[in-house]
Amino acid sequence: MEVDFLLIGQGLAGTILSHRLLQLGKKVMVIDLPNANQSSRIAAGLYNPITGKKMVKTWNADLLFPEIEPLYFQLEGLLGTKFLYKKNIYRPFLNIEEQNEWMGKTGDPGFEPYFEEIFSKELFPEVINPFGGILLKNSGYVDINALLDAYSAYLKNRNLLLEEEFEEEFLEGDRDGFRYKGISAKGIVYCNGLGAMKSRYFSNLPFAPVKGEILDLVQRFHPDEIINRGVFRITLPNGNLRVGSTYTWHDLDQGPTENAKNELLEKLEKLVPEEVSAIQSHRFGIRPATKDRKPIIGEHPDFPGVYIFNGFGAKGVSLIPYYSNMMVEMLLSSHQPEKEVNIARFGKT
Ligand SMILES: Cc1cc2nc3c(=O)[nH]c(=O)nc-3n(C[C@H](O)[C@H](O)[C@H](O)COP(=O)(O)OP(=O)(O)OC[C@H]3O[C@@H](n4cnc5c(N)ncnc54)[C@H](O)[C@@H]3O)c2cc1C
Repeated sequence: MEVDFLLIGQGLAGTILSHRLLQLGKKVMVIDLPNANQSSRIAAGLYNPITGKKMVKTWNADLLFPEIEPLYFQLEGLLGTKFLYKKNIYRPFLNIEEQNEWMGKTGDPGFEPYFEEIFSKELFPEVINPFGGILLKNSGYVDINALLDAYSAYLKNRNLLLEEEFEEEFLEGDRDGFRYKGISAKGIVYCNGLGAMKSRYFSNLPFAPVKGEILDLVQRFHPDEIINRGVFRITLPNGNLRVGSTYTWHDLDQGPTENAKNELLEKLEKLVPEEVSAIQSHRFGIRPATKDRKPIIGEHPDFPGVYIFNGFGAKGVSLIPYYSNMMVEMLLSSHQPEKEVNIARFGKT
């Protein structure tokens, strides 16, 4: 079988990149080991333009956000499955100074695409929000599991997915392209998250895996809005609440921990101090993050035709729609990705 590109990994990165290539008429084959504890299957799928303790516009928001909803909406149409949930995010103010600061930004055209409304008084009695808060738009979440399941069925129907481990020792390459177990490809793209750390091509890249834990639980208050301060709290279609996430750089292989569960419940108590009547699930995943917190995109400096599309860390849902376009430009027209995300920033690996 001959293809243009062989993609390793069908997490969010491999899914969206292969979709973009197929839309342009390119031939792809995707290899993915299902049931691995991949980051995409654990993620809450939030896309949020104003993030962090200091509530700043997320990095490159004005480039990233126009791409997000159109892409997931297009994929919903293609796959006939719902997974994009556009939701306002409500962020309570911590104090009067913060309220004043954000009141001052209301007329700022830089924030206009993301502001729905500002409240100077409590909006929800169930939430600790004595100083009001800000309601964001251009935000929501993607049910990534629903997207990956539907897309993997779509690929399988077209014989474009191999559900098995990619074994790099069977990969051969020369000037004419690559061969892997009966598949010939002009290029190979590693979209395999932290799996790239085991690759002979990419193991020296500065990955910095970040563990995250997340709870599904039951509380009485079910607003349509996502509530976000310290933790996020999403009302799921079944009425359960999803609460996350933690960030740790140690205990990566310990599975879900009591510490993380308690941390999430304590932060939730400070946001929505209602009884938690049940915890439905407690899951963990490891984010494919990098030391400089930027994606890693581009062609290997010593091995032409070997590419990487990776390092989406905690923000794959917002980053991948935009950067997949840049990756396609590189694959099809040899346009170099911008310096900040280009693998070239690490020199020879
Ligand atoms: C708790 C938690 C909460 C999160 N919340 C959010 C959020 O709210 N919003 C957000 O944007 N992001 C969130 N993230 C981050 C998000 O999950 C990532 O940014 C994104 O999903 C990364 O996608 P990926 O495809 O690069 O990697 P992955 O999802 O890890 O996918 C890699 C794929 O490659 C496959 N693979 C690896 N090695 C091989 C091999 N040798 N052979 C075959 N297949 C292989 C794996 O099986 C997997 O399918 C969260 C992550 C965690 C852990």
